[in-house]
Amino acid sequence: MKAPAPSDTLMEDIVGLCKRRGFIFQSSEIYGGYNGFYDYGPLGVELRNNIKQAWWRDFVQCRDDMEGLDSTIIMHPKIWKASGHVDGFSDPLVDCKESKLRYRADQLFFAPVRVDGEIIGYVSVIECIDQQEVAEKAAAEMKRKMAKQGELGTIELKEYTEAKPEQYELIPSPATGKPGSLTEPREFKLMFETKVGPLADDSATAYLRPETAQGIFANYKNIVDTGRVKIPFGIAQIGKAFRNEITPRNFIFRSREFEQMEIEYFISPHADWKTLHREWIDTCTDWLVSIGLPREGISEDIHPEDKLAFYSQATTDLMFQFPHGEQELWGIACRSDYDLKQHQEHSGKSMTIFDETTKEKYVPHVIEPSLGVDRTLLAVLSAAYTEDEVPNDKGKVEKRVLLKFSPKIAPVKAAIFPLLKNKPELVEAAKKLYEKLQRRWNVFYDASGAIGRRYRRQDEIGTPFGITIDFDTIEKDGTVTLRDRDTCEQRRVTEDELIKFLDEQING
Ligand code: ATP
Repeated sequence: MKAPAPSDTLMEDIVGLCKRRGFIFQSSEIYGGYNGFYDYGPLGVELRNNIKQAWWRDFVQCRDDMEGLDSTIIMHPKIWKASGHVDGFSDPLVDCKESKLRYRADQLFFAPVRVDGEIIGYVSVIECIDQQEVAEKAAAEMKRKMAKQGELGTIELKEYTEAKPEQYELIPSPATGKPGSLTEPREFKLMFETKVGPLADDSATAYLRPETAQGIFANYKNIVDTGRVKIPFGIAQIGKAFRNEITPRNFIFRSREFEQMEIEYFISPHADWKTLHREWIDTCTDWLVSIGLPREGISEDIHPEDKLAFYSQATTDLMFQFPHGEQELWGIACRSDYDLKQHQEHSGKSMTIFDETTKEKYVPHVIEPSLGVDRTLLAVLSAAYTEDEVPNDKGKVEKRVLLKFSPKIAPVKAAIFPLLKNKPELVEAAKKLYEKLQRRWNVFYDASGAIGRRYRRQDEIGTPFGITIDFDTIEKDGTVTLRDRDTCEQRRVTEDELIKFLDEQING
């Protein structure tokens, strides 16, 4: 599989296919939709579950050094005070006073436009794949409109967070194109607040978790006390997280309700954390490849030391080539003993562990691989989306859309077709096979329409295998036709061979 090239049309095609075929819908659509929230339809929920199950199997069940957890979404508000989220979990917000639109200051870029070295105005642009090009065009247009002669200087875009106070008035709003309406950036709190209990005063304020990680730290002591864990070990959790994102966008890439798959991997303070961090980066990359992402579409973004939080030793993000550009998919951070020490201080409970090997007691350090389910699903969809041309039933070459999902995570593993729906013997044999396979995998039975049309419908939802029952099956040797989604190649196999093959492809 190839890395998808960034393109707006690919995103549009994916969004269209997801709605048309029942993968993902805008939440509350009958009421006009609700920005930043998405619902997963029949195929979406299967795909989502398969991604989560693959992660859980590979990182929890197949590892001897990992424990699973499912903590609550609403936790004691003191947890968020201790973790620093109450005071510090925010994004810089800019208002456009005229249009009433809001922007994230770190996703809004500006540059002075210089002609022969003299500043003639400013351009601004919202973060996008071709932001440099958009800004250069706007600068050339400004020069033309102002009838300035001379050489246009290079456009050096900077984040709005880096603008000087005297520049706020001069930078145009992306909404109106005119300067004077943007405010200075202010911190906008991202945690959703709610009230718990019958009192509605401040003492009842609680938060929807903005990450699952703190539930792990809050339960670390329980797991150390009740389990038989030995350093190094990890605690893993999959669950919903909520962030009141200023600008949810790019489909499910950035939403306000999403799901995370997080691990806190506890290590000795004396461990060679750099090597362990590297091992986690490689393990995580290999896992993404194992569920069907192209290795060449994945890259590493190492956070520069001067941009790290004071407690953080290192962070590397695994980036993926999404349709809207290269963006963070998986954050892998070395967070030292900061979180556990904060909870030790705020709760008054010891967070130490006794290391059997070195006979020491210490608060462990932690490596945190944190992955979004929805972003993984978008990555998988973008890598799988393919258009090609294949001959139809009559031999005429037609365009087809297919999703090249790995059989491991494909929502429907195989489709079973009787060649003709008006031949009871074929229908009966096909239904019998369908019911047999249904006990093991999510499979689909389809008897309606020409066989080519039925194949095409399955190609579009990414079903890797088509199984056709024809007259040879019932009259001759019991073999069925097995069709490969990607190559369209067909071969005859016995039922035993079929089940063995499917098992290898799906679970192997
Ligand atoms: P970004 O910089 O893109 O906002 P982040 O650095 O704030 O992301 P983390 O706090 O490290 O993200 O969260 C860990 C993972 O959770 C991310 O790598 C991403 O996969 C996922 N994630 C975070 N925020 C969102 C969101 N709003 N919608 C969907 N997934 C998200």
